[in-house]
Amino acid sequence: MKRIAIVGGGISGLSAAFEIEEYRRNSGSAVDYVLYESSARLGGVLRTEKIDGCVVEAGPDSFISEKPWAADLCRELGLGDQLIGSNDADRKTYILVRGRLIPMPDGLMFMVPTKILPTGFSPLFSWKTKLRMAQELLHPPRSADGDESVASMVERHYGAEMVDRLADPLLSGVYGGEAESLSVRAVLPRFAEMERKYGSLGKAMLAARKKIPAAKAQVARPLFTSLHDGMQHLAESVIARLTPESLRTNSSVGTVQPEASGWNVVNESGAERFDAVIIALPARAASMVLRECGPELAGELGAIQYSSSITVALGYDNRVRQSLPPGFGFLVPRSEGKRMLAATFVHNKFPHRAPPDRALLRCFFAGANAEAVWESSDAELIAIVRHELQQIAGVRGEPLFARVYRWKLAMAQYGVGHLERLERIEALRRKLPGLALAGNGYRGIGVPDCVRSGREAAKEHLERLRKA
Ligand SMILES: Cc1cc2nc3c(=O)[nH]c(=O)nc-3n(C[C@H](O)[C@H](O)[C@H](O)COP(=O)(O)OP(=O)(O)OC[C@H]3O[C@@H](n4cnc5c(N)ncnc54)[C@H](O)[C@@H]3O)c2cc1C
Repeated sequence: MKRIAIVGGGISGLSAAFEIEEYRRNSGSAVDYVLYESSARLGGVLRTEKIDGCVVEAGPDSFISEKPWAADLCRELGLGDQLIGSNDADRKTYILVRGRLIPMPDGLMFMVPTKILPTGFSPLFSWKTKLRMAQELLHPPRSADGDESVASMVERHYGAEMVDRLADPLLSGVYGGEAESLSVRAVLPRFAEMERKYGSLGKAMLAARKKIPAAKAQVARPLFTSLHDGMQHLAESVIARLTPESLRTNSSVGTVQPEASGWNVVNESGAERFDAVIIALPARAASMVLRECGPELAGELGAIQYSSSITVALGYDNRVRQSLPPGFGFLVPRSEGKRMLAATFVHNKFPHRAPPDRALLRCFFAGANAEAVWESSDAELIAIVRHELQQIAGVRGEPLFARVYRWKLAMAQYGVGHLERLERIEALRRKLPGLALAGNGYRGIGVPDCVRSGREAAKEHLERLRKA
């Protein structure tokens, strides 16, 4: 019997376990697995609570529809009819500019304008930035092919205001990080490629749009996908397919060590032998587990930065719901000097998230903003959020409920040079046969990429063990 250890019970580790379980069932192969999870519950940051008729997401609230792996997994789990799309007809996101909520103009693709009139008349940008947008269409292709920060690329094309008002707030919502330190090649690879080919990002976007057949454009997917009962339902459905005896919660792995023809996984109860291991942990935690068998690899993994985040969910009555502007919510540029970075009007973004007479708001702190308030009590955090919601969106009155969720160092930050680091990590990993890595530290932080990484890691081992 071949045995595979999976370290980490978030969606990456669960996806790896699912892949092995399916392989075993379908092929009848003699392969077994054990999944180690340090905490008492599986699912990692996928956590949903039902409060006062609302579906409250503590961690991720959805995944981007363009990346198929999470939705594919849902369909394999029989959850196809549970998938829900974002209410894109009502999609409108506001940016706080000098204390006022300004809607993002129609036609902006990330921060690249593709429609002249809405952007030209939008108060979101100064005339100087609008002029830069027009000039950007003449931007020459980039000859240098090294990496740089997102801020540096955006500033070269559109100026500093675009970084402050759009690039930075949009990225902090996804990575909890700052445009100043995130790698353009790792975070916005399409933009780096567009610049190389066309020079102008605006020209590249327009060319790409022309290539989409009209019929395809009309049946566009919703931007975000989620599950009717929340993201935890995905984790629970995977767990229900796994062999209960293979799942070890409250089992923190200290180290993994290669031995003659396999690996030892060491935790408080001792060492257990396996033919292969999948480390499905945040890269910093992976670094700790691998420090003895591969100090150089551990050094590279430990250098991948992570940021902390806090979400605060607030439920309100219908008066607040009616008083809020339409749309998905707002982003707060750091220059506005607020502590929260974003708020989502959850009841508008997805169907089935709140009863018709409730408002559900989700406020977000990340990176330096989360660190600055990390030591605050839940009551203090709720007070901060309520105060800022009142200032920004005029939200008054007592919330019907409030919940605070803290995620310490859970979001990977792909810094400048990340892809080169991944090449070094891959070369070092290959020197340790039977070791695979999965998780959000490598080639995608979102749930779909984590699902893909877990399943690919399992497939690699299964293929190798089949040939052995
Ligand atoms: C607040 C927040 C909002 C997000 N929003 C979105 C979103 O809307 N859409 C999206 O696509 N993505 C989103 N993400 C990102 C995405 O959810 C995560 O990147 C992904 O879920 C990470 O899954 P994972 O399994 O790799 O890691 P984790 O979920 O972090 O799981 C790792 C697990 O390993 C365990 N562990 C740690 N050390 C050990 C050890 N030594 N031994 C055993 N077990 C150990 C941990 O307890 C944990 O359960 C969000 C993330 C956060 C934090």
